[in-house]
Amino acid sequence: MRRRIFIPRSYKPSELQCERALCVTPDEAAGIISSSKAVLITGGLLLEREELVKYAVKLSKFMPVIATGASSKPLLENGVMPLTKVFTLHHIIQFVEDGGWKPLRRCDLLVFLGVQPYYLSRVLSSLRHFSKIKTLNIDELYQPNADYSLSAISMLINEKLCSGCGDCVAVCRTMSKGLAINVVGGKIYVKPELCVGCGMCAEFCSRGAIVFEKGDGLHSLMLEELVRCLEASAVYLSPENFKNSQTSL
Ligand code: SF4
Ligand code: SF4
Repeated sequence: MRRRIFIPRSYKPSELQCERALCVTPDEAAGIISSSKAVLITGGLLLEREELVKYAVKLSKFMPVIATGASSKPLLENGVMPLTKVFTLHHIIQFVEDGGWKPLRRCDLLVFLGVQPYYLSRVLSSLRHFSKIKTLNIDELYQPNADYSLSAISMLINEKLCSGCGDCVAVCRTMSKGLAINVVGGKIYVKPELCVGCGMCAEFCSRGAIVFEKGDGLHSLMLEELVRCLEASAVYLSPENFKNSQTSL
């Protein structure tokens, strides 16, 4: 049996020039969205990356959407009616900072998907300084100016290959913030909150039972897991609720 575990990517303060966003795993991001009055803001990258449209459509079942940068086109084609599609992201941020804009009056979390990273970095920096609204970045690149940024590495564990030798546990003892990995009764347990993502357990496992996943596919895996966690826990935004949300937000 194979299990995938997401571990928040840790950044050293010296790697970043500014205040850092809290790295969150997909299940943590789902928890933040579920406990907030969230609005999804989509950007022009939806026109370039079809899989982002797929996830924006799935996420629209859990929060209203504001489409910027012509991202309304693929959303409308897929049956999603945004709260608004005529303003640029710059306008939206201005409205948030000024306060009182009706569609976002009660919103306390902005979730960003499909926005050009450089542009998003500037927008998040402005929001951090001039607004109290919380921000969650679920785009691919870590955004230090957000409050929360979906950024994780994923550990794939193949229990069939594991012999229970404990070599990974021995090496983890010296690397982690506690004991992040343990083997009990032949089963591997991981505590993501203690793991620093060093990868040494995978290096030391001679049977290839632990693999760290990186690269292009990881962002899609994280979005897939985010949607799965929301589906498991959250109340769907029915078409009727969605209509109401346009006035109640
Ligand atoms: S080192 Fe590999 S084989 Fe040994 S307990 Fe850890 S995962 Fe299992
Ligand atoms: S060895 Fe490193 S990557 Fe593996 S569980 Fe421990 S802290 Fe995490």
